[in-house]
Amino acid sequence: MSPLPAAPLVLGTTNAGKVRELQELLLPLGITCRSLAEFPAAVDVEETGQTFAENAALKATLQARALGQWVLAEDSGLVVGCLGGAPGILSARYSGAGATDTSNNTMLLKNMLGSSLNSSDRSAHYACHAALANPQGEMVATAWGNCGGVIATAPAGRGGFGYDPLFIVPEYHRTFGEIAPAVKALISHRARALRALLPAIQAHLAPG
Ligand code: IMP
Repeated sequence: MSPLPAAPLVLGTTNAGKVRELQELLLPLGITCRSLAEFPAAVDVEETGQTFAENAALKATLQARALGQWVLAEDSGLVVGCLGGAPGILSARYSGAGATDTSNNTMLLKNMLGSSLNSSDRSAHYACHAALANPQGEMVATAWGNCGGVIATAPAGRGGFGYDPLFIVPEYHRTFGEIAPAVKALISHRARALRALLPAIQAHLAPG
């Protein structure tokens, strides 16, 4: 008997960096991922939550209900201790309307001008909360992952996306902009959240 075809999993984001990283993590499992960009009926979900977890849940459940598809969504961002946790859930929009990765990085460096390198002053972490919703828009599973680092005083490297050129991973003495994508795929907040969610994703969506 031939195996059942796998149900597709819609990645509930239009962020190209996130789509690339999520697809690379899911591909080896035989799970067919589709980008939100392929669905004209996709809705623009307002991130009205006060936490990463609330926003991930909103993005997964509202999109799944609108599309009638399984949706994996995540909300992630950079949390900097000396900035009181900023940019946090506002990471994508830190520098205001029309924010880009470059303008966000410039704003971050400006706001950290008083903090010296080599001190816990510049310590930070990335956080990622992931949520899986079924085609009825019900939450099926959630998971989270963190990745600790230090904010550099100047950007280095062209890899990754977002704040990666400023995010030094202490174990590697390099920023995520300089570290190979295969290493980021092992240790990032997104990889950790996704690995924790894998049993649920496989139970519902793996071919077989
Ligand atoms: P969201 O789309 O509302 O979850 O916002 C995510 C934002 O957090 C991104 O636009 C980046 O600014 C930042 N971010 C999240 N994950 C990463 C990462 O892996 N590298 C760099 N920046 C990230």
